[in-house]
Amino acid sequence: MWLPWVLAGSLAAVVVAVIWLWRRADSARSVAEMGLANAERSLRQVRQAADRQAAQLHAVLAAQLAPILVLSTDHSLVDMNAGARALFGSGVEIGQTLMAVTRSAELDDLVAHCLAGGADCDRQLVLGRGQQPYRARAVLVGAPEAGTPEIGGVPAGVVLALQDLSELQRLGRARRDFVANISHELRTPITSIRLLVDTLRGAAPVDAVGRDELLEKISIETEALAQLAQELLDLAQIESGQTLVRMVPVSVAQMIESVTNRFGPQAERKHQTIDVRVPADLSALADSAQVTRVVGNLLHNAIKFTPAGGNIWLTASQNEGDIIVEVGDSGPGIARSDLSRVFERFFRGDRSRTSGGTGLGLAIAKHVVEAHGGRIWVESEGRPGQGAIFRFTLPAND
Ligand code: ADP
Repeated sequence: MWLPWVLAGSLAAVVVAVIWLWRRADSARSVAEMGLANAERSLRQVRQAADRQAAQLHAVLAAQLAPILVLSTDHSLVDMNAGARALFGSGVEIGQTLMAVTRSAELDDLVAHCLAGGADCDRQLVLGRGQQPYRARAVLVGAPEAGTPEIGGVPAGVVLALQDLSELQRLGRARRDFVANISHELRTPITSIRLLVDTLRGAAPVDAVGRDELLEKISIETEALAQLAQELLDLAQIESGQTLVRMVPVSVAQMIESVTNRFGPQAERKHQTIDVRVPADLSALADSAQVTRVVGNLLHNAIKFTPAGGNIWLTASQNEGDIIVEVGDSGPGIARSDLSRVFERFFRGDRSRTSGGTGLGLAIAKHVVEAHGGRIWVESEGRPGQGAIFRFTLPAND
């Protein structure tokens, strides 16, 4: 009687055990599946973060104007920006060695030095077809001291940044030239004044006529110093952008007349003729005081450089939206090699060394004209008698 009950009880126990085991296996499977899904999600997130970082890095590289190269430990090119491509040519390809890309043993040496953990990975060298001066800095990828994330303690490569030094060097040279020029310009009149004063004070008697002559020379030299000081101030002010250009409608004829009235007596003393041809109704948008200074400088030069008895002319005309002012002379002209340099600060042609002047007048004129949105240029064959023609434009008022 009791056997069926025992059998039924055992069967039930087996069934319960099987169900329990099946449930456990199922829950283990779902735990494993959940773990897998979580791992996949994490991996996706890591991948997305890495992609984002790579894109940011690429954008940082592209945003740099200076050439930048990313190199692996065997000196082959991993990445480069547009600045580097422009410097080393568009034919450069990823995977090429640094030597093949730059043809610079010095740069290759710098990268080797940096990879070997050398200090001071910063050098000056010349690069590119133009042999331009550059500063090169190499930084290890994965070096904690360089601030880049460590990659298993081993450097993963080198980032090479280059800075073009030619503009900095040019500015340094210009500053040195400026100081040398200014010292020379100051010393010449000061030496003359000192000599003239010594002569006046000297033991040898000087009669009234002689004294007047000496005083006149002192006055000329003092005037040259005053002019230099004024032109330097003008130039400094214009270059600092502090000079306001007040552009208002002005009569070109009136502006030119005020200049010829001022310089007329000077031309008369040299028996030069000044021919003025300016339509009375020409109107420009200009700062009258500043443009008058430009015309004054051009006319003063024409009178100064043209020999006695020569001809000078001033004309103005309108071409669409431009007023064109022209100042010409029959003087010695300007050598072809000097034509592009006459508007530089302190430039003075060989022939003008003895005629006085600072070499600043045309530099100031250029600044003023360009501040008006115009341009100034000169034409000359550089043959005596054929003279020079200076022209500049101003916006027309119409
Ligand atoms: P500066 O007249 O004080 O020397 P500028 O800047 O006015 O300085 O002129 C620069 C140089 O340009 C002059 O030294 C001279 O060599 C040349 N130049 C300017 N105007 C004339 C001209 N009309 N004829 C010949 N040379 C000129």
